[in-house]
Amino acid sequence: MATLPLTAHHSIAIIGAGISGLACGQVLANCGASVTLFDKARGPGGRMSSKRRPLATLDLGAQAFSVRDPVFQRAVDEWLAVGCLAPWPTRTYQASPNGWQAHNDGQMRFTGAPRMSALTRHLADSLTALPRVSLHADTSIVRLQRAHMGWQLVDAAGISFGPYDRVVISAPPPQAHKLVAAWDDNLAAACQTRKQRACWAGWAIFDGPIPAIPGVEPDWQMVRIAHHSPRQVLNIVSRNQTKPGREAQPESLSLLAHLDWSEAHLELSADEVAEQLVAALKRILPTSTALPNLIEIGAHRWRYAQPASSSEHAYLYSENGLALCGDSFRGGRVEDAWLSGHGLGEALIGRSV
Ligand SMILES: Cc1cc2nc3c(=O)[nH]c(=O)nc-3n(C[C@H](O)[C@H](O)[C@H](O)COP(=O)(O)OP(=O)(O)OC[C@H]3O[C@@H](n4cnc5c(N)ncnc54)[C@H](O)[C@@H]3O)c2cc1C
Repeated sequence: MATLPLTAHHSIAIIGAGISGLACGQVLANCGASVTLFDKARGPGGRMSSKRRPLATLDLGAQAFSVRDPVFQRAVDEWLAVGCLAPWPTRTYQASPNGWQAHNDGQMRFTGAPRMSALTRHLADSLTALPRVSLHADTSIVRLQRAHMGWQLVDAAGISFGPYDRVVISAPPPQAHKLVAAWDDNLAAACQTRKQRACWAGWAIFDGPIPAIPGVEPDWQMVRIAHHSPRQVLNIVSRNQTKPGREAQPESLSLLAHLDWSEAHLELSADEVAEQLVAALKRILPTSTALPNLIEIGAHRWRYAQPASSSEHAYLYSENGLALCGDSFRGGRVEDAWLSGHGLGEALIGRSV
């Protein structure tokens, strides 16, 4: 993996402006290199994105994350000070056939404020405020080309960008594989071994609060459904109006399906999935619960939601200038993604290998 350290003279393309790509970009931009980020979505964030509806904003990917690593803790402290992050949740439950039990594993968790994507938006805004850094949103990179002066990137409209000295790919491995397969056998093989699990994420907005559940705090924030049947539909329900900065919005639930169920129903329509998730919500509530009227439901399919297993390398890079990072290279959590991107950035500038 040895390669010459990057310097301020180098130009780097980063494909994917999720938290790993942004973390990598921050290290490289801080060393003065020219950094160009590309994302196929309308904005940065990836799996930390939030859905904005007229009456409510709902997090459809990560709901909250914990911190174990001291380097990540320092970044989290900065984000808390800026105000784009806040502690949440503190009132969590587990639902099982025996009812709801308070469930607190003692781990502090955080969420973006006033929505999960506020964190990645903050990172993207601070990065692009630096000289020699830019972000191309709505730009799906479909091909890499080796040019005389470095790497060229080609998007879905056939437009070429570059040349770049290095290309960092932070897209989930199946998407990264399409880009590296023609150029690097080792990186391609690494992508193929990192299998991804799928997840349906639904949402439901009501015209009033869910009635109180006996024995449960009325302002409960999140419930995890204990896995007791392979046909279990729901995994997590979280109440977005209990998240910091969203207190004024009506009852607005994120309904995350169980991964096994998601994979068995991957090709259902989003409307059908949303109906099934709301039906599953009713089943975890006491039978006497009269739900308020639904204003809106929907569902989003994450084909590549989380890695099936953890990996021994936090990132990978090659002599030819291509590099891979992302949560799949550590363990499938926000912290893993940030550490992977940050670690790759440090390795590319020669601070660690
Ligand atoms: C439903 C769900 C719930 C989760 N819950 C939690 C949780 O509670 N706690 C936790 O810690 N983690 C959670 N996670 C995981 C967490 O969201 C991820 O680990 C983290 O966001 C991954 O960041 P990343 O930068 O590695 O990848 P991503 O966020 O996926 O970023 C990759 C980016 O690459 C872009 N891209 C892909 N291909 C191309 C291309 N060809 N051209 C241009 N751009 C491209 C994508 O648009 C995307 O923005 C959850 C994830 C999901 C889906």
